[in-house]
Amino acid sequence: MQYDHILIRYGEMALKGKNRKSFILQLQNNLRQQLQEFPNVTIKRTQGRMFVLLNGHDPEVIMDKCKNIFGIQSLSLAIKVRNEEEEIKAAALWALQNEQGARTFKVSVKRIDKNFPIRSQQMNQVLGAHLLSSTIGYTVDVHNPDMEIKVEIRKEATYITSSVIPGLGGLPVGSSGKTLLLLSGGIDSPVAGFLAMKRGVEVEAVHFHSPPFTSERAKQKVLDLAEKLTNYGNKVKVHIVPFTKVQQHIFREMPDNYAMTIMRRMMMRISERICKNESILSMTTGESLGQVASQTMESMNTINEVTNYPILRPLVAMDKDDIVKISRKIDTYDISIRPYEDCCTIFVPKSPKTRPSREKVNEFEAQTDFSGLIEEAVSGIEVVTLTGKAGAEEKFNDLF
Ligand code: ATP
Ligand code: MG
Repeated sequence: MQYDHILIRYGEMALKGKNRKSFILQLQNNLRQQLQEFPNVTIKRTQGRMFVLLNGHDPEVIMDKCKNIFGIQSLSLAIKVRNEEEEIKAAALWALQNEQGARTFKVSVKRIDKNFPIRSQQMNQVLGAHLLSSTIGYTVDVHNPDMEIKVEIRKEATYITSSVIPGLGGLPVGSSGKTLLLLSGGIDSPVAGFLAMKRGVEVEAVHFHSPPFTSERAKQKVLDLAEKLTNYGNKVKVHIVPFTKVQQHIFREMPDNYAMTIMRRMMMRISERICKNESILSMTTGESLGQVASQTMESMNTINEVTNYPILRPLVAMDKDDIVKISRKIDTYDISIRPYEDCCTIFVPKSPKTRPSREKVNEFEAQTDFSGLIEEAVSGIEVVTLTGKAGAEEKFNDLF
């Protein structure tokens, strides 16, 4: 015997009223995308649930993939049998013996198909007695069992499921539109992207690089980070902006203490251009208030002036420790700490203004014309689309 299904429960989505149907279709679609390398797998919807039919594929491997998908409240491995008492008994026994280390158990029967002749409560007893008499060393514990064997007797079949594995929660990626993630090589922005995805937002990324001051390896680092994000969505398109000339112009022409602010404003302006071209309605950054001297309210206010696109800042309320914790769980931390410089760390002004003002920055920017340089940067954008599925990680059951 072997688990032949994965049962998927979606929590929050079930509450979403009118949008419910499209959320469910999106989830099914995302599952299909993540599992496309397994040709025999099929995905079926039934009331309030989804089933992944393994058709011979390794249950654990497929489970690891499914666990990465937003919009899932919990998952269980399941065996499907006919609505026959003897078949149900055999499968329940197999499930119990298959669970490593379990010594106490509880049976929970849900009889959804009222044509099945034995009522739920009585079936609990029938199965409990069968399991006790067929094994040695197991006991029943209804309050705190090592294993709860759930038996759902539905119209079409009976499903026996193993323990409940928590999913990532959130909403299926693609159900809340798209955002442009400003992706540096740091720790924060990939986490910000992950959290935007958790709310169902599809992510495209933009990265500003300044060759030859920043190396190929710095660029590769960003692509590797984006690749990690594909574990949670279908694909991530990365726009790589050649930023050298803009930066050089800023650092030559603008006052040193405003260079950082102006550089950020240029990033926003160029990002907005990408949003317009790609029909993306928002941007996302890894900013978190007060984390570094440049992330003050004044700074945010001054940088934000150049765009009226909404800017999502999923990390704004988080402590660095918590951000690092997530980056480890989504496996971006080790990539983020690779020592390659990005454009911001190379052109660092000696004393960046921590409280810049809009008036001042507008005055400075009016002294020179950036439009040609911005056009040149936009027309030099290189696009890399990542679709890779670089191995699902198994780490984040306790994350949310
Ligand atoms: P991170 O860890 O994400 O680099 P940070 O703590 O270093 O963040 P800043 O350097 O102030 O913070 O950058 C703030 C945000 O600006 C980043 O989180 C990112 O969204 C964006 N950003 C910074 N540099 C770049 C870049 N080279 N390309 C794209 N976005 C960038
Ligand atoms: Mg950074």
